[in-house]
Order: sequence, then C-alpha cells, then structure tokens
Amino acid sequence: MTRTLFRNGVVWTGTGAVTHALSVRYGRIEALGAAALAGDADETVDLDGGLLLPAFGDGHCHPDHGGFEASGPRLKGHGGVAEIVEEVRRHAEAHPEDEWITGAGYDSTLAPDGLFDARWLDAAVPGRPVALRAWDYHTLWCNTEAMRRAGLSAATPDTARGVFARRPDGELLGTMLEWDAVDAVLRVAPPRTAEDTVAALRRATEIFAAAGVAWVQDAWVEPETVEAYLTAAGRGLLATRVNLGLRADPERWRDQPEEFADIRERVRAAGDLLTANTVKFFVDGIVENRTASLLAPYGDDPCTRGMPIWPYEELLRTLAAVDALGFQAHLHAIGDAGVRTALDAIEHVIRVNGPRDRRPVIAHVGVLDEADLPRFAELGVIANLQPLWARTDPAMVELTIPRLGPERARRQYPIGSLLRSGARVSFGSDWPVTDHRPLSGLPVAVTRENAERQPAGGWLPGERVTLEEALTAYTAGVAYQAFAERERGLLVPGMTADLAWLDRDLRRLDPHDIASRTAVLGTWLAGERVFTAEPKPLAPA
Ligand SMILES: [Zn+2]
Repeated sequence: MTRTLFRNGVVWTGTGAVTHALSVRYGRIEALGAAALAGDADETVDLDGGLLLPAFGDGHCHPDHGGFEASGPRLKGHGGVAEIVEEVRRHAEAHPEDEWITGAGYDSTLAPDGLFDARWLDAAVPGRPVALRAWDYHTLWCNTEAMRRAGLSAATPDTARGVFARRPDGELLGTMLEWDAVDAVLRVAPPRTAEDTVAALRRATEIFAAAGVAWVQDAWVEPETVEAYLTAAGRGLLATRVNLGLRADPERWRDQPEEFADIRERVRAAGDLLTANTVKFFVDGIVENRTASLLAPYGDDPCTRGMPIWPYEELLRTLAAVDALGFQAHLHAIGDAGVRTALDAIEHVIRVNGPRDRRPVIAHVGVLDEADLPRFAELGVIANLQPLWARTDPAMVELTIPRLGPERARRQYPIGSLLRSGARVSFGSDWPVTDHRPLSGLPVAVTRENAERQPAGGWLPGERVTLEEALTAYTAGVAYQAFAERERGLLVPGMTADLAWLDRDLRRLDPHDIASRTAVLGTWLAGERVFTAEPKPLAPA
C-alpha cells in the first residue's frame, strides 16, 4: 500500500489546527485537508464521523508485568479479600500443573493497613506455595508454604530495603514490604521461561495497541527481559514501539553502565520498534507502604520519613556514569524528599557532565514541595504523571491521605501547576498498577473527580488541565520524552504516520463519558494498521 486516505471525520493534529482528511504515503503523513483529498489513493479509510489523532504514548508502564498478570489469577476488580481468595482457589484448581501459584494486582486497601494474612491463602491452597504481588508491585502476599520454601521465620530480620510484617508474637504475617522482603520469597519461585516472557510482551503490546497507544516506555527492564524483547522484535510480535528503561541496581551499579551500553547496541540492531535509550532509577518507594521519602515524618507514624533506595553518593555516581554514556535518566520519585533528591541529582549531573539535550524524566511526582516546582522547567526535567492517580479513590482516601496528613495531601500530582511553571509534562499509566487506557486517564486529568463525580468541581481543582492539554501530554508530551518530537506526536506532513482512530470526537462529550462512550477503532504504526476493532454486532431489526 503506498497511499492511504483518511476522510469523512475530524482530524485533530495537535498543532491547534483541526481538519477533515489526511493522507499517508510510505508510512509518513503526506498532506492534510483538501490537499489530502486531491489525487488517487490505494486505500481509503472512511472515518465515519470519528476522530483521527496522533497515536497515544505511555510514558511509564510495565509491559512484562501486565502481560503476565493477564495470564495469572485475576486479582483486580474484587470487592473483598474473600473474593480474591476464591479466585486464587479457582485458578489453582484449574492449573494443577503449576508448582507455584503466582499472580499480581490485588488491592492493598482491602485489608486494614494493607496487611494480608498468610492463613487466608492457606485455607484455599494449603499444599502449594502462593505468592501474589499487590497492585503497587512493592508488596507481596504469600501463604505459609511459600514462606517455608523461602526459609523465612520469626528469626528472619528486616533489612534496610525490606520489611516483613509480623504478628504480635513476632511470627511472619505473610505480607512482605519492599525489595529485599519481596525478593526473599520470589527468588525461590521457579523462574519464568523465556517463552513465557516473549508471550507476555506480545500480549502487552497488543493490549496497548487496542487502546490507541503506539509507543511505550517500559520503566523496569532487567537483563533477561531484554532477551525476550529482542526475540519478540525479531519474530515481529511487537504491536507497539517500546523504549526500554534498564533498571540501575543499587546492589551492582558499578558493572552496569557498560552492560547497558552493550544492550543499547544490540537493541539498535533489532529494528525500528525497539530502543534502549533510558536507565531507570527507583529513588524511593510509595506512600501507601510509608516507603516514599518525605521531608517531614509521616502523618500517621512520626518515627519514619520513608525509605530512600540509594545511598545518595552512589546515586550521583551511577547517574553521572550513565549520563556520560548518553542515556536518558528516568527516576521514580513519589515523596517530596524523593522528588527533591531526584532534582538535586539531575542538577549535579548537569554541573559535572556539562550541558546537553538529556531530557531527564521524574516519574510520578506524588508530592511536590512548593520550592521545587520551578526546578522542573529550570533543569529541563520532564514530569511524567499518571492522571488516574489524581482522584479521591479508596486508596487515596484510606491509605494515602492519612499517611501524608491533610496539608501535604494537597500537594499531590500538581499537573496544572507544573504546566503553568513551564515544565514539560507527559502522561503514563504505570500499567498494570492502574488502567492502561488513555481514554480512562483523560477524564481524570480534566475533572480530577472520581467515578462518583466527587468532589464536584474536582479534587485540588487548580491542578485540572484542559482536554487539549491532556491530549497533548499523551501525544506530543510523550513524543518529546522519547526524543521523537520531529517524528511523532503531531499530525504534520513529513512525520511518521502513528495514528489512532476513535469512533467519536471526544471533545464534544461530557468528560466523564469519554471512557464509557468512546471506542478505539484502529491504530496505525508508520502507516501499517496494527489494531482493528471487532465490528459491533448489528442491532436487531
Ligand atoms: Zn512504575
């Protein structure tokens, strides 16, 4: 196919201009409007009154986790612990061949303080080990058999990067908090096979393509996942572009910069869809576990200010080393101290390595101290936010706000303030932590109301953004994060034809109806269609 014409719809270009037709030639946008309609086309797509826009991007997600989650017990969407346990029992009975039952995505708010008991799972699966990650991926709930196989007992000490929840008598409860504690169990579970991971990556990119997403930032890549990505790309199984965020490991950072450079070269040879330009750092944890780093103690526990993941000097050295190799830094930072540490570290790297177009990313920006707001624009830092988190859902009301206290809770996810400060903002989902669909994130960015439309007018209404701003953060904002703003993120002649087709012009809807009333009909990658919606069943005559 050499020339494709899209007509009879609304073409949202992202430049402020809206037109009604677009043509693509050899994978690139050729013309808009009347110029597109002139001349012959090898293929015509009738947009049928729908909306054509630049394909969305996801600036922070975890495709391998999401792909695996889709194959384990379904832990999301349950109203209580009993339902989760029942689903685990059902899955275990349906898979007698699995030596371990592993899964991810349960909602930590379903047990008081996020503390889940091993005995609840023992009742459903007594003989085989069960290990379930919470939706945050920083917490693990397992049964007694899993702890026994891991050799864990009341005598097992907590570490600087891991806490074992305990019963009053010191016995382990069954909930593991943060790296060392989670790994203490998972390291004895059977490793996933390489083919399992390839299948998960394929499934994940297909799930994204079906949501109109054509580029994703994988924000946590370990070396074995790189091999699976190379296999998937080699077999043509990836349905989106992926940039790998190679995780810098506080345990073995001295060896990593050279390994990362090797990986980048191998990935470069693997074709157009895959890049490995980014190194991921976890600066802190999450508020819900009291592991996000805060400037002042937690509101509900004056003994702690969180858990920094890196000794600061080692963070600086590692960041400077990978920056000197030309990598982009992508830093997970949620607490106000975590965000400040990330900004300080970036400032240090700019000072020691000199100016260059480095586009560091701070992901999440859970709590931002007023004094640090202007530093994003000053230092050229991209703020990557998850709009779905900016609402008063149960996790926010029951876990986050009590941990932060009311004053600090008002400084969360300041998307509007960041935009007004001149910062670059990109959006992402953190899928599978939360819904991967931009159509679910857009209404929250615009209204900051929850599913019950509360609080009316929005939670922290000054941080709402317009629909155009939110669309831009999902398109041009993510393209900038990917160093691809000359290639993608706008519909302009000469740019790559990464396109999404929605069944209606969502700009005309009540924002709350966007997720329920809009469907993605098609997604194109460089002019090649990678997703086609199933035709709707015809209404009975
Ligand atoms: Zn993440």
